Amino acid sequence: MPVLEGRARHLLAGRPNTAAIVLLRGDITEQWVDAIVNAANSSLLGGGGVDGAIHRAGGPEILAACRDLRASHYGKGLAVGQAVATTGGKLYARSVIHTVGPVWSDSEDRSALLASCYRESLRVADTLDARTVAFPAISTGIYRWPIDDGARIAIETVRTTKTSVREVRFILFDDRAYAAFAAAVSAE
Ligand code: ADP
Repeated sequence: MPVLEGRARHLLAGRPNTAAIVLLRGDITEQWVDAIVNAANSSLLGGGGVDGAIHRAGGPEILAACRDLRASHYGKGLAVGQAVATTGGKLYARSVIHTVGPVWSDSEDRSALLASCYRESLRVADTLDARTVAFPAISTGIYRWPIDDGARIAIETVRTTKTSVREVRFILFDDRAYAAFAAAVSAE
């Protein structure tokens, strides 16, 4: 597969019924896409890292929608590896897709749960008719997943998941995360 390299932008064309992949350095809250994905926690009631940034930028409407989810179908919270959508509030993105990544473990292989976050988020994106979706590097912050492995799982999963989404953008917050994703794209 051809890999086009530009300044802080890698591109991997989509196979039939899969999304093209774009890598960008930046802040996911500034993305102009149909949906952005939040690396949330099971409570859905906000947290640090990208979760905190999304709620700050998107305003109280997102938290209100999350509270409604907790009061209805998600009384016990959202399970690890699952995804659910809310409004995008004040964000450019129409929707936020919340997914809960696994915490890294030295003693247990939780890779299938991390892959599930990407797959389930794309499934939810399809229900929203989203064509462009921005992801952060799920689990690689507070949840301590090693960035190289997190990048490999992210790229492999998006590459092989059938979806109507045409473009997946990975928004990488620092140079190290960008380099890890660029290496994973180059390995495809
Ligand atoms: P988790 O709890 O799933 O590890 P974090 O939010 O702590 O979630 O981190 C996930 C990734 O998101 C990390 O690589 C972190 O550097 C990155 N990140 C933090 N803030 C932003 C942001 N505003 N935009 C994009 N990525 C971000």
